[in-house]
Amino acid sequence: STENNILEVRSINKSYGNFSAVNGISFQIPRGEIFTLLGHNGAGKSTLIKMILGLVSPDAGELVIDGCTYEQNLLKIKRKVGYLPERMNFYDNLTAWETLQFYAQIKGLGKERCEEVLEEVGLKEAMHKRVGTYSKGMQQRLGLAQAIIHRPQLLILDEPTTGLDPSGVWWLKKMIRDWNRSGTTVLFSSHNLDDVEELAHRVAILCRGQMVAAGTIRQLQDQYHLKVTLQVEL
Ligand code: ATP
Repeated sequence: STENNILEVRSINKSYGNFSAVNGISFQIPRGEIFTLLGHNGAGKSTLIKMILGLVSPDAGELVIDGCTYEQNLLKIKRKVGYLPERMNFYDNLTAWETLQFYAQIKGLGKERCEEVLEEVGLKEAMHKRVGTYSKGMQQRLGLAQAIIHRPQLLILDEPTTGLDPSGVWWLKKMIRDWNRSGTTVLFSSHNLDDVEELAHRVAILCRGQMVAAGTIRQLQDQYHLKVTLQVEL
């Protein structure tokens, strides 16, 4: 039923000039699911995610998040959604602690929550070091900390495994699984099937702005020969 879905994407389109970046995409995400958008660079994943976040407005179609559209209740949606962008732009001269304080203030949260969340992502010991000294993996952890600081019901991650080393990918998958088990619905994008296989409950494959297939990994393997589809069509 509609109430069971945290997200409903209904026939959304976005063009830049006469180039169609997202073309008639529809899907639903039930609460509690891990859902992946799979597609190579330029497939339209980031544009779709930015529309879901209300950062880019669709030319047509409708987005319903927890029963609400952005026109109806923007603030309610902002409270429910956490976002890790493809690239975070931190201030190199601030420490992780100072950086997170900034996000906490915007969201009306206190210092206790900052400390809690830095511990959760494994940055507590390094939290007074300047972010400019952080590795890519540590910056990613800080990005995740700001994404979950307000305990979102829907966590959206744009290509979270890109640029991470294998141990970073392993850690990220574990965190996604843990957050999901404690009730967070997760939507993430990837161009790497291996990142998705053991994690996602359902996958949508995007190709040139269109959704070419959607289902569980098993369904896609059976029906569409997923690996072949990915190699040939994408
Ligand atoms: P990536 O992993 O590279 O981000 P993606 O699947 O997320 O790929 P998008 O970033 O959504 O893809 O881009 C889809 C297409 O839309 C690309 O061809 C891109 O060049 C184009 N595009 C995206 N944003 C704009 C913009 N603001 N103006 C013009 N074209 C854009």
